[in-house]
Amino acid sequence: MPACRCQFCAAPLEPVQEFRYLVETATDDPVHLNRIRALPHAAGRPLRVCKGCQAAIRVHPERFRRALLRPDVPTRVLAAGLLSLGCFFVTLVGEL
Ligand SMILES: [Zn+2]
Repeated sequence: MPACRCQFCAAPLEPVQEFRYLVETATDDPVHLNRIRALPHAAGRPLRVCKGCQAAIRVHPERFRRALLRPDVPTRVLAAGLLSLGCFFVTLVGEL
């Protein structure tokens, strides 16, 4: 089973943080979720954070809010995808 990693620093989560994340992710009842919520959250979803990042979020919430706004897909991956798509269409049009 792959280790659950912090979405900010990529460190393996402490067992208690991983347990909290799994429980909060699996809880559908919003009233119950509000009672048990221990992790920071964004758009109603718990953040997968290690203890260090959770403490840093409490101190500098704006820094992490900006990190959440960044797209998950790196620019290089997007460029490679667009380049591959372009090569596909050039090949397709060239065969017609
Ligand atoms: Zn972290």
